[in-house]
Amino acid sequence: MAPLTAKLSTPITGSITLNTGLFINNEFVAGVDGKSFDVINPSTEEVICAVHEATEKDVDVAVAAARKAFEGPWSKFIPQDRGIVMNKLADLAEKNAELLAAVESLDNGKSINMARGDVAAVVATLRYYAGWADKIEGKTIDISPDMFHYTRNEPIGVCGQIIPWNFPLVMLAWKIGPALATGNTVVLKTAEQTPLSALALAPLIKEAGFPPGVLNIITGFGRIAGAAISEHMDIDKVAFTGSTAVGRTIMKAAAGSNLKKVTLELGGKSPNIVFNDADIDEAINWVNFGIYFNHGQCCCAGSRVYVQEGIYDKFIAAFKDRAEKNKVGDPFLEETFQGPQVSQLQFDRIMSYVKSGKEEGATVVTGGDRHGEKGFFIQPTIFADVSQHMKIMREEIFGPVAAVAKFKDIDEVIALGNDSNYGLAAAVHTKDLNTAIRVSNALRAGTVWVNCYNALHHQLPFGGFKESGIGRELGEAALANYTQNKSVAIKLN
Ligand code: ADP
Repeated sequence: MAPLTAKLSTPITGSITLNTGLFINNEFVAGVDGKSFDVINPSTEEVICAVHEATEKDVDVAVAAARKAFEGPWSKFIPQDRGIVMNKLADLAEKNAELLAAVESLDNGKSINMARGDVAAVVATLRYYAGWADKIEGKTIDISPDMFHYTRNEPIGVCGQIIPWNFPLVMLAWKIGPALATGNTVVLKTAEQTPLSALALAPLIKEAGFPPGVLNIITGFGRIAGAAISEHMDIDKVAFTGSTAVGRTIMKAAAGSNLKKVTLELGGKSPNIVFNDADIDEAINWVNFGIYFNHGQCCCAGSRVYVQEGIYDKFIAAFKDRAEKNKVGDPFLEETFQGPQVSQLQFDRIMSYVKSGKEEGATVVTGGDRHGEKGFFIQPTIFADVSQHMKIMREEIFGPVAAVAKFKDIDEVIALGNDSNYGLAAAVHTKDLNTAIRVSNALRAGTVWVNCYNALHHQLPFGGFKESGIGRELGEAALANYTQNKSVAIKLN
């Protein structure tokens, strides 16, 4: 059986000891079947350590713990006290920010500065939802003088949460924040590629004062532990972030088991539209950030870039210069902007899209190859003259690959922008307020950015139109995913 701790080292922290068991009932335990799996450093392709693997049996154990906590100690926590422990967890995450960022960077490959930004977002998100804990209210509804009617917003119960590898800690915070604030308990499964930062955070849950079983974190594979969550008869709700294909599987599993509530945050192929009158330097910065931030591994990546014909040639030349300035390399160097893709599998998928772009006749403006000899690094890549039917314009690549095309006028670009099964995000760059508002209103996307990109904030709802998802995360909107209405009607004498 794998040990319950591992020694690792990062340039920021030096040598550290990490717990590698499953975090259930506030303790690290071995998986029932004694299985483990290796976690790979995407910068070096070497094994960092092994962690325990949860199977169906461990999901059962974690769900039983979460059920007991839901019916027991967590239900006795008054709302204000839920907020207090959540704030404590935020404080502890802030105190341990460098450790969490370093582990994130090591495991995911994102640059240390981006990882620091992620930890700051985690802290802010937890504090925001801690503030909501004592503001979950119902209504009185006046129907008749002989009756008294009111509603309650009650927690749903045990929530299964399945998160991806692109923002491991941030996704954890987006998920647990609204779930815990509203009084639910959680079994969260991390992505198999990136389990380490959640394991580094887990001891802080106990230290913050959460009762055992309120927040359980398990490491394991999607097809085994993830499937066990989505099929489980005693999980009341499943929340998932990841690919649209897996989202469908989870929804089917929920429907085929106990009709657990489902929220999904899925893929995207977001249009980033630049009009002739845009501030071109600004627009290029945002287009660059839109596609290359987090190595293109963002569900809302601005991967379809539509540029109006009057500035097209100038834009392509300037975008090339900008993309070539992005520093690609060791995530632990302060100046690095882009680290490796998360895994060999992702690297291969992205490179196959690059190949398909070349074969379909798009123009490679820059990049189009791996970066360096070792690690899953890919050059920031721009394809120009991309037709709407090409695979690189239609499918989510999830890598540092921009597909650029020319458009004539506002009607054409609205049609192009909406010509996708996805509808997660979009952006428009223009100095004309009318154009900005007309395009923003017409685009079928859950978020539209004007003269910026990736301007996410924990107070602002985020989620998808069309096949990009169901439900909204962040902001007040996320609370609705984790509460159910109860109407009470009392007959008066
Ligand atoms: P990607 O394709 O980018 O790796 P996935 O959607 O496959 O993204 O993975 C996101 C999360 O979903 C991960 O935690 C993964 O383990 C989980 N997952 C993958 N397949 C399944 C499945 N069949 N059922 C439940 N969860 C799954």
